[in-house]
Amino acid sequence: MRGKLIVFSGPSGVGKGTIREAMEFNNFKFSISLTTRDIRPGETDGIHYHYVTREFFQSRIDEGKMLEHAEFVGNSYGTDLEFVNRELENGKNVFLEIECQGALQVLEKVEDVISIFIVPPSIDELESRLRGRGTEDEETLQKRLAKAREELDLQDHYKYVVVNDQVDRAAKEIDGILSQEIKA
Ligand code: 5GP
Repeated sequence: MRGKLIVFSGPSGVGKGTIREAMEFNNFKFSISLTTRDIRPGETDGIHYHYVTREFFQSRIDEGKMLEHAEFVGNSYGTDLEFVNRELENGKNVFLEIECQGALQVLEKVEDVISIFIVPPSIDELESRLRGRGTEDEETLQKRLAKAREELDLQDHYKYVVVNDQVDRAAKEIDGILSQEIKA
């Protein structure tokens, strides 16, 4: 049986990665994205992302090898189509942790996606989380916040909307959704 595609999205800084780490459900292959952004301290090439040049990224798009791709605050991010197709055909579920423009492309192209959108309890909360993470300068942080406001308007496109009020609670809710969906 073909695997299921899980699209896990939400504004930058909303806590997608932290929630995923707190989840117990792990019956999926995580899709490692391509990105043109610089590697951050604590990240590893080939684990967090495949860090590539703009030229390489563009060549993958031109060759039709991306399931989706998006510009996000000055950098490109995208999902490797062959990886996703191969795993789904092998009956594995595939987990995409991606921003909203890319998620919408996937929802348009692929049927029967388990789409989950994470929202912050409030924009103020999101701002303090992004500041707390301390990985961006003020200008980038403001851009990410503006983007987040736009992205929150897109939640109706998703099958499930989960509020990240508390990481463990949100992770449990998603464990429940995925166990239910993947059994079905
Ligand atoms: P960051 O730079 O903080 O790692 O990621 C910025 C945003 O890009 C996050 O919302 C992250 O989930 C998203 N992202 C990561 N990989 C992909 C991808 O392959 N495609 C798209 N569209 N977004 C991605």
